[in-house]
Amino acid sequence: MTYLAVPISGRNIKEATEQIGKACALGAEMLELRTDFIENLTVDCFEQLLVLARNTSLPVIVTCRDKAEGGCGEYPLDFRIDILCRAIAAGADFVDCEFVNFQDDSVENRLLEALEDSQTRLILSAHNFDQPFGDLAALYENIIDVCPQAIPKLVYKANHINDCFAAFDLLKNKTGDAIVLCMSAAGMISRVLAKKFGSLVTFASLSDEASTAPGQVGIEQMKSLYRWDHIDAETRIYGVIGNPVGHSLSPAIFNACFDKQKLNALYLPILLEGQKLQFNEFMSNLLKNNYDFGGFSVTIPHKAHALDYAEVEGDHLESLAADIGAVNTLKVGFGGQVSGYNTDYAGALNALLSTLGITKHQLHSVSTAVLGAGGVGRAIVAGLTDIGAHVTIYNRTVAKAKSLAEEFSCKYASLEEATNMDAKIVNNCTSIGMPPNVDNSPLPKECINCNMAVFDTVYNPLETLILKYAKETCAKTINGAEMFIRQAMAQYKIFTGNEPDEEVMRTTVFGALKR
Ligand code: NAP
Repeated sequence: MTYLAVPISGRNIKEATEQIGKACALGAEMLELRTDFIENLTVDCFEQLLVLARNTSLPVIVTCRDKAEGGCGEYPLDFRIDILCRAIAAGADFVDCEFVNFQDDSVENRLLEALEDSQTRLILSAHNFDQPFGDLAALYENIIDVCPQAIPKLVYKANHINDCFAAFDLLKNKTGDAIVLCMSAAGMISRVLAKKFGSLVTFASLSDEASTAPGQVGIEQMKSLYRWDHIDAETRIYGVIGNPVGHSLSPAIFNACFDKQKLNALYLPILLEGQKLQFNEFMSNLLKNNYDFGGFSVTIPHKAHALDYAEVEGDHLESLAADIGAVNTLKVGFGGQVSGYNTDYAGALNALLSTLGITKHQLHSVSTAVLGAGGVGRAIVAGLTDIGAHVTIYNRTVAKAKSLAEEFSCKYASLEEATNMDAKIVNNCTSIGMPPNVDNSPLPKECINCNMAVFDTVYNPLETLILKYAKETCAKTINGAEMFIRQAMAQYKIFTGNEPDEEVMRTTVFGALKR
């Protein structure tokens, strides 16, 4: 059992009462009374708060955190232990004391005496707000040695996603109850996966403002986006690997489809900072133990790293992905076999052909412009040259346009020269148009005419400036969401073997983009 606990961090009884009500309404499974947040805390005031919390019938943790371990108020140690002893006497389910303070004999004696003949369980916690603990397993053992009845709670900052694996390993190997979580954006996945790997508790905030630790996920997000109620030890894990990934729509669409098809699966944003070295470390970490990772969507800046990995270490690389020179999909088989694919190619071509209502053959010999020479540019150039379109690549860095053009036997020029183009179909594969470049267009309006079709691979915002220009000139338009949905559908099939529910994907994507 993993409890989804909400920290109650009101500054006074009124605020705390409101937070308790809200936490219950949002489906909290446990409350943590962070009494150190209460201003001018007294034992009477604490007892009032505990009665309110216990009236909810949810299990309650009482914490009066030391400032040195992330606490809010400056309450002295003796007073903080008074609060915990009163909590034990009043029958709180759990009390949380810092392990470092518990090693003070008087603290240990007071707490152990109070706990005699009590049902309350003691959590002994350790925090590192800067980095992972030097030896996490040894710290866990140390806590158990000092107090065998305690529940060790170990919380540290993950400076990189690769730091999370130590937490997963400890949870998999622990012998009794333990709480192990990573802080920071890179550690966010540990807060959700706590349930899969068996942490006794994970913490979710009521809102961003009420968050009591870095990387805490909101309870609404935990329940609706990250499928909290469906996660168990067997849940298969998928995700999007990239940097940044915070605004990706992929978790919403994949999790909505898993819901619809009642699959025991979860899709997470996986912030992977660094380059090839860190990417390879991540892959070797996830394969060294059976964590149940099933596959990944791969985005900027890791598509080339994923290609190299699949080529050198993987078991299969789709020949199309090798030709394009980018992998945007990695599947991890149940035996740990890794296969690389590219679904951008099919996603982009299908979006183009179906929105224009034409067949591949009708693109033969048609003059097309590809703006951009990155991962998506490569996929679209590969697709268009494959069906015999005449392609010119325009890119800010001309050397990249040249090398791509040489690979696929097409023409190239600088992005500025795109203003002189004579193309029937224009494909924007640069990131111009997405935040923070939303007021920019890779082409001025004068270069667009009503005989053209303009395809923007950028999907957020749905209507970019170049698409506005195209509409105003009565040119045909294809938005990036059409490609996004199609490439995600192909990924879903690779991951699960099932056809995804297209309607669910469309509703989720367009709903999110319109918001
Ligand atoms: P990438 O490999 O990083 O390539 C980025 C491209 O944009 C490069 O050609 C780069 O030119 C150009 N660029 C970036 N900033 C620019 C600027 N300020 N001025 C001029 N050119 C600029 O990225 P990618 O994976 O190909 O993704 C490109 C775009 O495709 C993204 O915006 C993304 O939204 C979109 N995308 C859409 C989907 C979909 O399903 N619809 C899927 C993936 C990506 P240089 O070579 O000169 O740096």
